Amino acid sequence: MIEIRFHGRGGQGAVTAVKILASAIYLEGKFTQAIPMYGTERRGAPVAAFCRVDDTRIRERDLVHEPDMVVVLDPLLNRSVDVTDGLKKGGLVIVNHPGAAKDTGLAGDFKVATVDATKIALDVIGRPITNTAILGAFAKATGLVKLESLAEAVKSELPARLIPTNVDAMKKAYEATNAPVDASGFKKAEIVKKTSTQPMISYSRNVSDWRVIRPVVDKAKCVGCKRCWVYCPETAISLVDNKAEINYDYCKGCGICSEECLVHAIKMEREEV
Ligand code: SF4
Ligand code: SF4
Repeated sequence: MIEIRFHGRGGQGAVTAVKILASAIYLEGKFTQAIPMYGTERRGAPVAAFCRVDDTRIRERDLVHEPDMVVVLDPLLNRSVDVTDGLKKGGLVIVNHPGAAKDTGLAGDFKVATVDATKIALDVIGRPITNTAILGAFAKATGLVKLESLAEAVKSELPARLIPTNVDAMKKAYEATNAPVDASGFKKAEIVKKTSTQPMISYSRNVSDWRVIRPVVDKAKCVGCKRCWVYCPETAISLVDNKAEINYDYCKGCGICSEECLVHAIKMEREEV
């Protein structure tokens, strides 16, 4: 049996990714299992989902604690979550990262394959939803599933209007994936556990490391209508001199303010990794 664990952030589509993957491998004649893990997460918060693959019926129903493979949909997630916890010796990590495997902050007795899924998703889909791109990378790095099967499985998980761009993202990621590299000599990034003595409500939490894209306000265009202030789910926006100002400590990069600004005064720009 092959066990796979996906790590992502709410809104990146980790749960949909495991469903597409399990369906695609099932189409190729194997037994599969997709396990979503829902909690109290919100958009941007770390989430996990699990997939099992076998030649015979799978009776195991537990979460995956000792995966053979780990898939990471967010380049900075390993700064707050130990994504390789329990990964079997000689295992494989497929990670969304713009740099080389040695720059990912992942280190251990496993291999790391990288792909800049955020760039592909932004270029092709127009949003940093990296699930289908990372599945293209998974197909390339593991050889466990065919790209054609993933493209077929997408049809049952996404609305028809989203299928062409998501299949295109898969194909582009498949072509752009770097070959797995031995990570035993790399330096592991420190995991910063954040604690708060305040109530766990939006404005008391620093969520800056959830962000892969950041809103930038063009103050010349801002007319001070407060629409972004009303819609921001993290209360990260205030009005200073009748212009929107963003507190980046509390901004998770969801892009809602940019979508809601009627004069297009807020542009989303990619964060440096
Ligand atoms: S919605 Fe746009 S115009 Fe209105 S306050 Fe925000 S940035 Fe300014
Ligand atoms: S400032 Fe904009 S991008 Fe940041 S959390 Fe608020 S709505 Fe989302």
